Amino acid sequence: MKKHNYSAGPCILPQEVFEKSAQAILNFDGIDLSLLEISHRSKEFVAVMEEARALVLELLGLEGKGYQALFLHGGASLEFLMVPYNLMAANGKAAYLDTGTWASGAIKEAKHFGETIIVASSKPENYNHIPKNYTIPADANYFHCTSNNTIFGTQMKSFPQTNIPVVCDMSSDIFSRSLDFSKFDLIYAGAQKNMGPAGTTLVVVKEEILGKTNRYIPSMLDYQQHIDKESMYNTPPVFPIYASLLTLQWLKKLGGIPAIEKINEAKANLLYTEIDRNPLFSGTAAKEDRSNMNATFVLNNESHTETFDKLWKAAGISGLTGHRSVGGYRASMYNALPLESVQVLVDVMKDLENKI
Ligand SMILES: *Cc1c(COP(=O)(O)O)cnc(C)c1O
Repeated sequence: MKKHNYSAGPCILPQEVFEKSAQAILNFDGIDLSLLEISHRSKEFVAVMEEARALVLELLGLEGKGYQALFLHGGASLEFLMVPYNLMAANGKAAYLDTGTWASGAIKEAKHFGETIIVASSKPENYNHIPKNYTIPADANYFHCTSNNTIFGTQMKSFPQTNIPVVCDMSSDIFSRSLDFSKFDLIYAGAQKNMGPAGTTLVVVKEEILGKTNRYIPSMLDYQQHIDKESMYNTPPVFPIYASLLTLQWLKKLGGIPAIEKINEAKANLLYTEIDRNPLFSGTAAKEDRSNMNATFVLNNESHTETFDKLWKAAGISGLTGHRSVGGYRASMYNALPLESVQVLVDVMKDLENKI
């Protein structure tokens, strides 16, 4: 039987995505060839790319609003660099909100391009909350934030108002909740957290913000060149893009973001209610900032670790260990994780309480 997969990434995908993508490797779309052995410029693959790009905009409610969706290589980590390359003017400045390991990774790259202002940071408290009430300089070229902090289990519930372009790393909560996505000028996400397998990065960019810096941008790092080449500047990662398309189709069939958001809220409520009720456990993130995707928690008494670990493993749960920088446990409840899997975890937590 399949395990209850709480992996933080690469993560669980819908079962039908695994089945259909396995089929496509053997015989893609009934053409008697594998998806892996056909040209990315074949009409069959071009159709995949076009549908995937269009479906992204449709699901985010961004059709006809001047946005382009791109499927690139290099992971979200390459976007840490591409964003300042494309958006920070020579002698310009950018504003960053430091909410975790990934945010600080983005800051590290931006610093090489110009003045990088950290508007606020929760680092002194080991990133256990999202800073609030900070000021964004009006003369910065853009503001960068991370919507969900995968490692620390915090999530931005609201986004600041500003007149400068807003860039957001949504790697671990894209397509998980309703937002007014038109408030963002550039969104990026490594596929492997909530959309597909590792190997492609989704970038959604409002085209009008590009072309405003006067620096040379290498072709592979230039969003405009990728747009002009319809996301096929070079050979795209065909398999992760196809599997991502299957996930997006699954999501659309389910009722899109509003439908999955309800399910995600139900899962998070179920688990956080137990974390708060059960005297053996504590959550590590500030309550008002708790992530609906990654719930981080610890055992109040570490001597129960062995018993708890045995119990959840025996219940068929996988991937519950917290990130090495935080310790404890992390339950990643991405879109494809069923509510039943969360119930299994909650039952194990209750079981531990009864045994002790
Ligand atoms: C995982 C993660 C990244 C890094 O993604 P890669 O695709 O491995 O480069 C960046 N940001 C966030 C929020 C993440 O969760």
